[in-house]
Amino acid sequence: MSLTFAINAGSSSLKFQLIEMPEEKVIAKGLVERIGIDHSLLELEYNGETYEVREDIPNHERAVELLFEQLQEHNVIDNYDDITGVGHRVVNGGEDIKDSTLVTEELIERVEELSELAPLHNPPQAQVMRVFKDKLPKATMVAVFDTSFHTSLPAENYLYSIPTEYYEEYGVRKYGAHGTSHKYVAERAAEMLDRPLEELKLITCHLGNGASITAVENGQSVDTSMGFTPLAGITMGTRSGDIDVSILPYLMEKLNLTDVSDMIDILNKQSGVLGLSGVSSDMRDVEGAANEGNERAILALDIYVNRIQKYIGQYIATMNGVDGIVFTAGVGENSAYMRDRIIKGISWFGIELDSKANDTREEAIISSKDSKVAVLNIPTNEEIAIARDVERLK
Ligand code: ADP
Repeated sequence: MSLTFAINAGSSSLKFQLIEMPEEKVIAKGLVERIGIDHSLLELEYNGETYEVREDIPNHERAVELLFEQLQEHNVIDNYDDITGVGHRVVNGGEDIKDSTLVTEELIERVEELSELAPLHNPPQAQVMRVFKDKLPKATMVAVFDTSFHTSLPAENYLYSIPTEYYEEYGVRKYGAHGTSHKYVAERAAEMLDRPLEELKLITCHLGNGASITAVENGQSVDTSMGFTPLAGITMGTRSGDIDVSILPYLMEKLNLTDVSDMIDILNKQSGVLGLSGVSSDMRDVEGAANEGNERAILALDIYVNRIQKYIGQYIATMNGVDGIVFTAGVGENSAYMRDRIIKGISWFGIELDSKANDTREEAIISSKDSKVAVLNIPTNEEIAIARDVERLK
């Protein structure tokens, strides 16, 4: 048996899937929450059962230790040699790391050096890579970066209109995120349309709690809505997306804030659909409230749709055309209502949904026969994409 771990470590969490390769069959999955906080929890799903362990888990090292104990206790693995690959999601690989990369001590140090660009994610991800390297020295270990798909952006799209020295000296540029998902759905779209990816202009809409839109031309990311950090772009569950930065000092004075990180926290955690609606960051709740006539929820949805349409319009203009628009992630793949609203508002481009085909959560082409542009629903699968990259680099 050849098993590959897909690992996604956050500052206080660790999500995992154990996937049988090359069959791409998910054998077990779960997460550890509240690492370094009290009342930590490990949850493991295997063979239709869910196992829970509640104990204080002081650090990621202990989280991985406990995970292995549980995998053995519930007979998920017989011995460590069953696990031949480990893929680690890493949030920021800067502009030099253009592809998934074998994990070496040097690579881990590079991930640590880039911590300034992703302070909450890169440090625990580097730590978790070290722990796994100790635990599974024989397994092929690969780092898969959220940013690498976007390293193909041309300078005109990654540079901000500020003095160029700030890019040259401090690395201020657009890095983007969700690259693994955008790449995965773009590749699937080409297969579903039965056309070479290298000939297609695609707009991929990853609409989850965090959300981003990417322009993919000839198989390469040419522009994306997230920026220097994931705060930029469209309206998200709790993130503001694009705003005029002059709002920051103005609001800090009004709110008596002296630390700019408190202001950034508001923009990351209390804004977006949550801040606008006052209801929830969860689109299901907001759609429900809007249905009952809640005016703030109605306006939150209007703004959400509007920002997505603006980015789609921008990318149709800058790519000078589009062959396919792809919807994915929590909202994108599940909300027929949202897809319908977004596409109806841009029908001038000759884009039209087939309402019956759109009534789905599965992989499907959902545009009408007469639509000038294909519209596709493609559930994303970042874990499988990570496991495939491990196989590719074996
Ligand atoms: P992330 O990985 O960024 O946390 P997901 O891609 O899982 O997020 O997306 C989560 C969001 O998907 C939830 O906040 C919820 O609003 C939305 N979602 C899930 N199912 C539906 C649905 N049926 N209709 C509308 N929104 C949905």
